[in-house]
Amino acid sequence: MVGSMHTANETQILTEPVARLIEEFSRLPGIGPKTASRLTFFMLRAPDEAARSLAEALIALKQQVHFCARCYFIAQGELCVVCTSPARDQRLICVVEEPLDVVAIERTGVFRGLYHVLHGRIAPLEGMNREDIYFDELLDRVRTEPVEEVILATNPNLEGEATAFHLQRALAPLGVRITRLARGLPTGGDLEWADPGTLSSALEGRREL
Ligand SMILES: [Zn+2]
Repeated sequence: MVGSMHTANETQILTEPVARLIEEFSRLPGIGPKTASRLTFFMLRAPDEAARSLAEALIALKQQVHFCARCYFIAQGELCVVCTSPARDQRLICVVEEPLDVVAIERTGVFRGLYHVLHGRIAPLEGMNREDIYFDELLDRVRTEPVEEVILATNPNLEGEATAFHLQRALAPLGVRITRLARGLPTGGDLEWADPGTLSSALEGRREL
């Protein structure tokens, strides 16, 4: 048996390895059973080398990359490239929801500070609370690092705004300057898809909270 997706009969027809790969692909975000089947048959027809290369890339990803011990962005060592760079302004922390938001902001080339990646946002209806993201870790950093300003760059949607509100309330007693990205980013959208021009003006025009 390979789980819920296929009956015993169907697994027999598909063969166990095919049914298994379909099952694995189906677990990925945004991949339904149809796409999972299509990808599986693509891999079956692909040269051995292509399949091996994909498998090796997955293993390398899990063996060589983890999250930065300081800001939780992706890193190959203990700390990420941003945290280890002597050129970055240690007084500035930009708080984002996901690692891809860091990539989007880096693409603008205008931000020279550090980051803090929450790995999610506060959304009680989805069971995401303060303790499910790197929220208190940010407060610890503000207490122990020479931080002067925290830029709240959570997404311009309901959950992003709520997260920014909670962060602001928790950060206020720590005596640090708190700013929020300027309006102008497409409302309801995700930071990671904002174009670099819009994103850099949102950063430059950030407002005091
Ligand atoms: Zn880092």
